[in-house]
Formats: sequence, structure tokens, C-alpha cells
Amino acid sequence: MPLYDKTFQIGDLVPAHGIYEIFHTQHLLAQQVVLFKSEKFPKCSRCDFPVTFLLHHELRALDYVNDLDIRIPLTELPIQSGSASLDTTLPLSNEI
Ligand SMILES: [Zn+2]
Repeated sequence: MPLYDKTFQIGDLVPAHGIYEIFHTQHLLAQQVVLFKSEKFPKCSRCDFPVTFLLHHELRALDYVNDLDIRIPLTELPIQSGSASLDTTLPLSNEI
């Protein structure tokens, strides 16, 4: 299966350097994140609900950066600032 058709979950190994789209209905996370090959897909910093990732664009140039010791693996996806009021952990039916 081509990488671009595959979805990935929290804890899966990142198969290629690239920009990944983030799908998470519980919280407003960044729409995309840059992840490095062989890192693990990060979790939401706010909850343990599933996060799904889809490769948006492979970044082969990052092969060169990965050797530099400047990359701190991302383990949690930060909530977008100003999204506190958009917390949808509660059922939508509770909204006015
Ligand atoms: Zn969340």
C-alpha cells in the first residue's frame, strides 16, 4: 500500500520524514505536523482518544537534518491556543 494512502495511529513508527495531516475530533490540534522518520506518532496532550495521521507530503531533504543533534522528538501534540472554549470532550448535544 502506498504511504500516501495509509493512515497511522499514536505509537506507530513514522515511516518517512514528512508533513502529516492530523485528524482528532476531540480537540483542536494543528492541522499538520512535521515528523521525522523512526519517531513515534505523538498523542494529544489533552486526552487519550485516538489521533489519526495521514502523510501529506514527504520531505526527503530532512534526511540531512536528521543526523544533526538538534531534533527533539515530539511526543505530544499541543492544543491550539485559544481553543479552550472549543473543547468538545462533552457530547455535542450539550451545546446550546
Ligand atoms: Zn485530545
